[in-house]
Amino acid sequence: MAFGCGIGNSMIDKKRQDVYKKRLLGKQEELRGMVSRTELDGRSADDDPTQDPADKAASSYNKEFLFSQSNSDRSTLADVQDALDRMNEGTYGECVLCGEEMSPKRLEAVPWARHCIPCQEKQEEGLV
Ligand SMILES: [Zn+2]
Repeated sequence: MAFGCGIGNSMIDKKRQDVYKKRLLGKQEELRGMVSRTELDGRSADDDPTQDPADKAASSYNKEFLFSQSNSDRSTLADVQDALDRMNEGTYGECVLCGEEMSPKRLEAVPWARHCIPCQEKQEEGLV
């Protein structure tokens, strides 16, 4: 009898989840460092009254770059934190849209993925 023996359970096994958790925590640390560093850089560029206009333009260009960079870091950081939350809730590895289990390959590539590949594609096309 196959019932009750635990084989065929589709949830991600604990061991694999621990591996993802370590990667998520590492990524979280890395992103936190980057986000706070770009915030510091952005601020110090503002506080320099001796800058001539050319420098100022360069620094505001640079700031814009840092800002968009830190925005994408920030949104990845939020995804990483969400993934850790889902881990605590026991729903890690499920697509947040359709509830289907994501493929191990997908999680291997992007452990903080929120959507399965079909849903991700639909979202990119603006269908959901
Ligand atoms: Zn999905």
